Amino acid sequence: MSYCRLACRGGLLFTCLVLGLVAGCTPDAAPEPTRTAQSTLPALALVAPSATPSVTAAPLALPSSTATATPAPAATATASPSPLPPTPTYASHVVQAEETLLGIAALYSVAVEALVEANGLADANQLQQGQELLIPPPDDASTPAFLPDFDYGYAIIGFSAGGRAIEVFSFGDGPNHVVFVGGIHGGFEWNSVLLAHEVIDYFNAYREDIPARVTIDIIPAANPDGLFRVTGSAGRFLPEWVAEPTQPGRFNDNGVDLNRNWDCEWSPSARWGGRSVDPGSAPFSEPETRAIRDYLLALSPRAVVFWHSMANLVAPASCEGQDAGSGLLATTYGEASGYPVGPFTAYEVTGDASAWAAGQGIPAIVVELETKDGSESGRNLAGVLAVLDSYSR
Ligand SMILES: [Zn+2]
Repeated sequence: MSYCRLACRGGLLFTCLVLGLVAGCTPDAAPEPTRTAQSTLPALALVAPSATPSVTAAPLALPSSTATATPAPAATATASPSPLPPTPTYASHVVQAEETLLGIAALYSVAVEALVEANGLADANQLQQGQELLIPPPDDASTPAFLPDFDYGYAIIGFSAGGRAIEVFSFGDGPNHVVFVGGIHGGFEWNSVLLAHEVIDYFNAYREDIPARVTIDIIPAANPDGLFRVTGSAGRFLPEWVAEPTQPGRFNDNGVDLNRNWDCEWSPSARWGGRSVDPGSAPFSEPETRAIRDYLLALSPRAVVFWHSMANLVAPASCEGQDAGSGLLATTYGEASGYPVGPFTAYEVTGDASAWAAGQGIPAIVVELETKDGSESGRNLAGVLAVLDSYSR
């Protein structure tokens, strides 16, 4: 076990990453996004959002006929990462089975049209497996781009009211799927999205930590509209991009609270503490909840965990008395993470996603982080690993 690995085991993922970088063991550690122009982190390119123009961003080359391709990220996941060239230009991507141009565009935060133009594609629907595509740098500084060094299962399971992709990242090949969902409350709970991305980074680096017979599926941002409203990104972002106030980021582009839109004890007069919120015109009126519902029904996971903030709680779900084993799931996550286990009692919640899952016979919990401004990834990773382990038998 390497130094980096030990640091990670210590429970502070971010600290581990920083220590790992300082110790020069980047090949073993997931890279942390950075926005300094001098960055040599592997395979990450980053553009500052236009909302914060005072921050220096790495210069991006304009497309040119002399652009040089870097190795395809998907094909080099097990090789030692090489530093980015001083001036990021084009990356390349080798098309995998069943990949679409839309999915590839989302993966690199570039427009489909830009991919078509960069590669001179006559027909965007005629990708061939093994075909190499040039990935242009984003041409819009309001679209942050993280070029991933990942070799994961990746899919877009639907689109938000505002047309933004809802992504899922999967690791492992076991029959027992366990789903984790961040950011159903969008930018208002942006730290739950940050946590999801850090868990993705962890399993991308440490595949061997996925127990036998288990697959982990992570939806980092169930509400990309609300996340975009606060961070300027529907995908990865840095905490310093968060713009106050975050409350408007709770809703999708239809103004609906997506965790009041599910078909368990749905009510047209939904509450968020002392406020009324729009639960949608009916259960599953929103494209986000329909997409995640259909994904869960098709996948039949063994458990689903929804990350929220900040009630400092692991709440087992139930629907009209049907618990589906959520209590045991809550105990497992709670004991490993240290969050108190118990019901959410601050106010009545209607149309909740976890309750719907329990009603479908899927054990489900809500994990409420303790704060609003940190991923608390160390203790949550302990909870995730404990849950995965419980489904390895
Ligand atoms: Zn929430």
